[in-house]
Amino acid sequence: MMHTDFIPYGRQSISEEDIAAVVKSLRSDFLTQGPCVSEFEHALCTKVGARYGVAANSATSALHLACLALGVGAGDRVWTSPNTFIASANCARYCGAEVDFVDIDPRTYNMCADKLAEKLQAAKLTGTLPKVVIPVHFAGQSCDMAAIHTLSKAYGFRIIEDASHAIGAKYQGEYVGNGQCSDICVFSFHPVKIITSAEGGMAVTNDEHLAEHMRTHASQGTTKSPDELTQMPGDWYYEQHTLGFNYRMTELQAALGLSQLSRLDDFIEGRHQQFAHYEALLKGFSITLPYQADDSDSALHLYPILLPEHNRAARKGVFDSLRQAGVGTQVHYIPVHLQPYYQALGFKQGDFPMAEDYYARTLSLPLFADLTLAQQERVALILKHALIANRVMSA
Ligand SMILES: *Cc1c(COP(=O)(O)O)cnc(C)c1O
Repeated sequence: MMHTDFIPYGRQSISEEDIAAVVKSLRSDFLTQGPCVSEFEHALCTKVGARYGVAANSATSALHLACLALGVGAGDRVWTSPNTFIASANCARYCGAEVDFVDIDPRTYNMCADKLAEKLQAAKLTGTLPKVVIPVHFAGQSCDMAAIHTLSKAYGFRIIEDASHAIGAKYQGEYVGNGQCSDICVFSFHPVKIITSAEGGMAVTNDEHLAEHMRTHASQGTTKSPDELTQMPGDWYYEQHTLGFNYRMTELQAALGLSQLSRLDDFIEGRHQQFAHYEALLKGFSITLPYQADDSDSALHLYPILLPEHNRAARKGVFDSLRQAGVGTQVHYIPVHLQPYYQALGFKQGDFPMAEDYYARTLSLPLFADLTLAQQERVALILKHALIANRVMSA
């Protein structure tokens, strides 16, 4: 890992303007609960075409708030993709709900809408329909939201998009987050994501009540709103109406997020150029390159390659060779249902074969804002050697 010119799989890009924005907020009157947070919420809503934004200290918190706002609780069921970060499932567990998964489409690696339809049909017969489905826009490419939205009307479930990878992505020509096909959409600003606020996330929605519910629960369940108070003894007064959390984003985070948001278009364009470079550089390699659906304009958060089925045993060797040669490859994702925590809840190997097969064969190549063409050429060369050394490809 300590290679001098190690190329990480993902890395934030921090400009002088980003730094100046954070310093400015640091010198201001407010380090938290000041103007930057609502400015960031408004700017992001304007960008993606949503009405209300609720900033949080992480996407994990925002997902929890979203589940609570949709009334998820004990006895409810929430379904998500097994090919995701654990937070997409954990948010439902925080609420006491049961989690289940829908296997992935082998081309996009997203939740498969056909498998969702089949599973819903079966669940209807046994009275075990989900209250909420959380599609995850894997690697920045939108799920088939039109199909999932249609199913939500037929079976009566709500939708939270986990768009942690997909800020700046478009689906059918419009930004992910505009709420056309979901109730709430959540973005992450962790440093490996498309834009960063160090830690941070945001839930966007077009529903005023959902937004208010999330905002209240992000701030200890309290309100100062005159029309909600039971009495008004003076200006010091607030009331706690429900049990909430401290999930607030700080001003420093929001200042960074806001500055990064102004660079979003550049980041996305840069990722598309890098994607095209990889396509050219990896042409003829015996691996599957990421597929891009016609109706989706991905934010390209990740560049996952897939080894051939008969070479699945070589994945560890290729991974180790890349790391040893200074290429920071990663594996996205270990299927969530195979985590010991979820196995203890009854899930097992074989439950979601597509996600498991994909996991066994995938590697993510470096993809981040400041990745240079020279670095991509080096990644391609080192990958070629690694594939040859591990007999995936002949010399
Ligand atoms: C990163 C990520 C999260 C969690 O984001 P945090 O901001 O780190 O809490 C949730 N879901 C997915 C798919 C992610 O990639």
